[in-house]
Amino acid sequence: MEIANKTSELFSQTEKILKKCDCDSSCHECLNHFWNQRVQSKLNRYIALQLLGWGEKGVIEKEFNSTEQYEIFKPIKELLELDGEFNVYFRKDAIKVLRNGIEKEIYIYISIYVE
Ligand SMILES: [Zn+2]
Repeated sequence: MEIANKTSELFSQTEKILKKCDCDSSCHECLNHFWNQRVQSKLNRYIALQLLGWGEKGVIEKEFNSTEQYEIFKPIKELLELDGEFNVYFRKDAIKVLRNGIEKEIYIYISIYVE
């Protein structure tokens, strides 16, 4: 049988493993194994569940409002404005970046997120 035909079974088994575990982030019962030892401190089963939900059903857990987006973007704004080429501002609930007369709107959305 092709892997494509097994996708929903794979998703559902993965979801079951991630949900039934009782660790805070990751452990050998859910995500950790020999080959990912170097990144185990970064693994998180809650984020994995969100990624799975997005991949399988297109579900995004939460969206940022415009103020939250602006707060998240602030450090990037400061970096962009260092050389004076970029002008970043907040107008009509949107982040705008202006450079060489060309204006772009920035939208920050969540792909994976844990509070
Ligand atoms: Zn675990």
